Amino acid sequence: MRNYGPSLLLRLMLPSAQGREVRMVNCRVNRIVNRIVNFENPLAIKIRKQIVSALADYNMLESGDRVMVCCSGGKDSSLLLALLAEIRRRAPFNFDFEAVMLDQKQPGFDATNFKTWVASLDVKLTIVERDTYSIVKEKVTDGVYCSLCSRLRRAILYDHAINEGFTKLALGHHRDDANQTLLLNLFYSGKISSMPPKLKSDDGRNVLIRPMAFVAEEDLIQLSQEWAIPVIPCNLCGSQSGMKRQMLKGWLKEMEVKIPGIQASMLTAQTNVRESQLADQRLWDFNKLKADGSHTGFHIDHFSGLDENI
Ligand code: SF4
Repeated sequence: MRNYGPSLLLRLMLPSAQGREVRMVNCRVNRIVNRIVNFENPLAIKIRKQIVSALADYNMLESGDRVMVCCSGGKDSSLLLALLAEIRRRAPFNFDFEAVMLDQKQPGFDATNFKTWVASLDVKLTIVERDTYSIVKEKVTDGVYCSLCSRLRRAILYDHAINEGFTKLALGHHRDDANQTLLLNLFYSGKISSMPPKLKSDDGRNVLIRPMAFVAEEDLIQLSQEWAIPVIPCNLCGSQSGMKRQMLKGWLKEMEVKIPGIQASMLTAQTNVRESQLADQRLWDFNKLKADGSHTGFHIDHFSGLDENI
């Protein structure tokens, strides 16, 4: 844990003294839905603690930060907004964040309920409008739009962050997203690479943070159902892509039954890389390696965790 020290973690992790609820009244065509967002919900507390751990471990937030939370309208970024609002309320230092959503002009896009949700959290929302949908429809001929679509979206959001003076961009990716990306890169791209909790954008202009890097998707699904989070469907574009990711997601779900804790172990593995036990000559100098009596840093009982039947 860096920079924050125990007082921040303690204050952020303790249940609120007075408790707090956000009541959201959502007017639909013929009915009114009452949403009670209770931050003392045990699952909300668990997820908030995991977010605080990630924030602290990777020094994601500093005093004076102005963070742009990239919102897709899905459950993940919507929950991140709510929990960041609660963390900001408790934080012993000042930081600010705003929600930014990109309206890509996909048919049927409707942010009405999302706007109500963000307003109920007392968070500023900006909706940036750019017709990337027409561009991808025109340029892409095989019906798989995601690669171009996400490149365009990234460029627009990164530019917006710079133009508006945001110091960081927060993304709603969670533990399972990182695990799927790890497998996608391993199986399809021949590299060991995932979604780091914090990184500099390729062009060097932005810092991206993923406060939910430690959070399991099943917890986000459950909390989003308990809080009745409004969701904008992600299939408005009609793209057939994401199938490899969906396949690996299903596979990991099956493996979790056979090997309980596999997703948690995969996350731990990403924090526990041993360069000398891989084969990348850029990370480990195999040429100069020789027996010199110095300890490698690995203990003999390094293997004790393995099942003897393996
Ligand atoms: S699913 Fe649709 S909106 Fe999402 S990245 Fe792919 S093309 Fe874009």
